[in-house]
Amino acid sequence: MNREKQDPQGNDRMLREEERIIVFMPLQKNVPEPRSDWQPTACPKCGQRCWLDPAGYEEVKKIYGGRAIQVRCTECALREK
Ligand SMILES: [Zn+2]
Repeated sequence: MNREKQDPQGNDRMLREEERIIVFMPLQKNVPEPRSDWQPTACPKCGQRCWLDPAGYEEVKKIYGGRAIQVRCTECALREK
């Protein structure tokens, strides 16, 4: 039985074209003690060490599949707004 693949472009039509999804990552310097499921990573923009919430990120990908999703540390995310 073939499962029909979801068409991400079909979902896109419901969202505004210019909408860009930014996933906030807390900086390690601000949050020295992360939640147990957070993973250490680096901000792709400034390279500072931060935390990625994998469950939260998967959730965003599920909701906004096909959109431009960017991960940013909180400082870069606020600067780009
Ligand atoms: Zn950054």
